[in-house]
Amino acid sequence: MEQTIAATAYKNYINGEWIESNEGRTFKQLNPARLNQVTGIWPAMSKAETSRAIEAAQQAFPKWRSLSVYNRAEYLKQALQNMIDRIEEIAEIITLENGKTLTESKTEIKSAIKEMEYQIHEGLRLCGQTLPSAREDIFCYSTYQPLGPVSIISPWNFPFNVPGRKITPALMAGNTVVFKPATLTPLTGYKFVELFVKAGLPAGVLNFVTGSGSSVGEVMVTDPRIKAISFTGSTQVGTGIHQKAAQALTRTQLEMGGKNPVVVLEDCDLEEAANATVTAAYACAGQWCTSTSRAIVVKPVAGEFIQLVKEKAEKIKVGDGMQPDTQMGPVCGTAQLKSILKYIEIGHDEGAELLTGGYQVKDGALADGCFIAPTIFAGVKPHMKIAREEIFGPVLSIIEVADFQEAVQVSNEVEYGLCSSVFTKNLEKAMQFIEQTEVGLTHVNLITALKEPQYTFGGIKNSGVGIPEAGKTGIEFFTEHKVAYIKFK
Ligand code: NAP
Ligand code: MG
Repeated sequence: MEQTIAATAYKNYINGEWIESNEGRTFKQLNPARLNQVTGIWPAMSKAETSRAIEAAQQAFPKWRSLSVYNRAEYLKQALQNMIDRIEEIAEIITLENGKTLTESKTEIKSAIKEMEYQIHEGLRLCGQTLPSAREDIFCYSTYQPLGPVSIISPWNFPFNVPGRKITPALMAGNTVVFKPATLTPLTGYKFVELFVKAGLPAGVLNFVTGSGSSVGEVMVTDPRIKAISFTGSTQVGTGIHQKAAQALTRTQLEMGGKNPVVVLEDCDLEEAANATVTAAYACAGQWCTSTSRAIVVKPVAGEFIQLVKEKAEKIKVGDGMQPDTQMGPVCGTAQLKSILKYIEIGHDEGAELLTGGYQVKDGALADGCFIAPTIFAGVKPHMKIAREEIFGPVLSIIEVADFQEAVQVSNEVEYGLCSSVFTKNLEKAMQFIEQTEVGLTHVNLITALKEPQYTFGGIKNSGVGIPEAGKTGIEFFTEHKVAYIKFK
């Protein structure tokens, strides 16, 4: 039975006030480790209420943009300090809502802190250009200006650092924000916003609206007052956003799905390759956008590699992320659970060989949650669905290939292009791989997921559209260029 009695009813934050939905509609969030625990009751905001949040962001814009960037930075630095002070508390909330382990939640917050620090500094050094005029007595320069109210739409898999990666540059550049968290992780979004509220951010600069993609999200995408949309989520939803945003010529930054390969060559350190594969396949229960979901292995080392990954995957302790000895938590909710189990069934039907896992873990208390055993399919062929579609769960497909050329070809034969990795000691092959791999982020002898805040982060093909997040482009996305010519004599 659901434990609704203790669940708190939370509010949204619009125009500097914590408010309920006027229309009184709500939704519940459930702990994926114990579906009988309601973690919170949330306003399901209507289209009209979302529109009011946009109105607040529009009204706050002139004053916020007119503050010096150093003054804007003061608010963000205070919010950052609040974040640093509350890592433990926020980590528990991420685990409660998303299911990832406490260690993984802390890693997410620490990564948010680093990215936020970096984007605050990018904001302070956002420089235009000064080039000589072709004419006498004219001084000219270019500068960046903010856009206006922007929409930030985030997913449940990184419910804390994705908002941070987007909202920090948006605010530093002088924009105001309407932020919608994923319906599966509203409390994490709420905690993020609370850090800014406690930092004294002026009313209307950051607005927080919960509710469905089809209601709240729809307005945030189609309202012509919104000047940019930064979205992270599935390719399907991202495609719809891109189409709708085009109507009002609203710019988009879409960070979407992946089917990330690790390529394993005969001359690599197989132990390292297996460790990297298992880490990136099962961390956060395979729900990183940068998770490794395909291992493409050349035949001479396939047997040994398969043995290594199988042994390592079978040692992973699955359980409630709140328990200190848990290494892999549940997947995030029943829709995810069903979808992943369906893909496992598809793998069977397609004739792939199930090496390990392949079932829902229901031992003892885990029966009430969304736990899936770390799963490996071997003998996967590139045409199979499990080799092409994003499963977004703890399922690794191993594909054997004849040689390096075939490995590259197979790795590129998907609609996605987020990240990839090759394991080899052959420098020439490593360089060839970097040249030919169709992704936005690639690696040699490293996990597919490694990224650092000073570089842009985003995919190509159906994984990413628009100027990518992080690094220099993270803030550029939220600006427009202006060039001034001044005749001074
Ligand atoms: P999703 O279903 O696409 O949802 C993402 C966000 O979009 C949620 O806030 C969702 O709201 C909202 N949304 C849904 N329909 C909408 C609509 N019609 N208009 C506007 N907004 C709408 O994705 P997800 O299931 O949360 O996240 C998993 C996906 O994210 C995976 O595909 C993963 O690869 C991708 N991802 C990519 C990256 C990257 O950087 N490339 C990073 C992380 C995750 P509701 O929750 O209310 O439906
Ligand atoms: Mg979804």
